[in-house]
Amino acid sequence: MTTKHTCFIRTALTTAILGLFAFTQVQAQEVPKPPKMVPEMTEFWEPEVRVITPGTNNTAAPSDAIVLFDGKNLSEWKAKDGGGAAQWQVNNGEFTVGKGDISTKREFQDFQLHIEWSAPDLVQSSSQGRGNSGIFLQDRYEVQVLDSYNNRTYSNGQAGSIYKQHRPLVNAMRKPNEWNVYDIIYTAPRFKEDGSVFSPARVTVLHNGVLVQNNVDIKGPTEYIGLPEYKAHGKAPISLQDHGNPVAYRNIWIREL
Ligand code: MG
Repeated sequence: MTTKHTCFIRTALTTAILGLFAFTQVQAQEVPKPPKMVPEMTEFWEPEVRVITPGTNNTAAPSDAIVLFDGKNLSEWKAKDGGGAAQWQVNNGEFTVGKGDISTKREFQDFQLHIEWSAPDLVQSSSQGRGNSGIFLQDRYEVQVLDSYNNRTYSNGQAGSIYKQHRPLVNAMRKPNEWNVYDIIYTAPRFKEDGSVFSPARVTVLHNGVLVQNNVDIKGPTEYIGLPEYKAHGKAPISLQDHGNPVAYRNIWIREL
């Protein structure tokens, strides 16, 4: 390489470095300095979180719940078929499965549901024939109610299952003469205008305070035979199943979300 060439390269490099320096100087001037971080910058005060009064224990209805059964009567319920009066008997602050399914008169979308149930004291039959009932979310999606205390059946059909879709994570069943508690957090499915699914229903279930369904997606109506298939729907009631077993219910409340 000649001296002339070396000189040319040196000049070019110097020009480039100076140019880059000048450019970054301009850039540095144009980019405003980030403000100094202070604690208040990440504290959001609005909207203020609504105040409610929790129940006197972890099963009592909080102040913003709709009470669906308070031990007195079935005024919030109707017969699922025909819509007449619910023909289930109320006794001692609880009611027992009678003839035909029953549904709430109100309709719901997304909610938190608290419901207590007890398998029949008299242990009869086995598998799906023992203490079978069910809680149908939006009248379609069954959280199974079954006497699963020392009673083997198919896992995705035992207490706490999303019937024939999701088995419970554990069997948290109490004895037949004791009360079971379900706390159910449910997000309804959303549908597109053409009726196809935009997002499936999701559900979390606690059985006696134990997580048994962890935000699982529901695949469609819980069918006894065949595969689930969604059909578009809006708000719908909660229904309770008459499966021919005298399962008892008490203390039912719901919070719309
Ligand atoms: Mg059932």
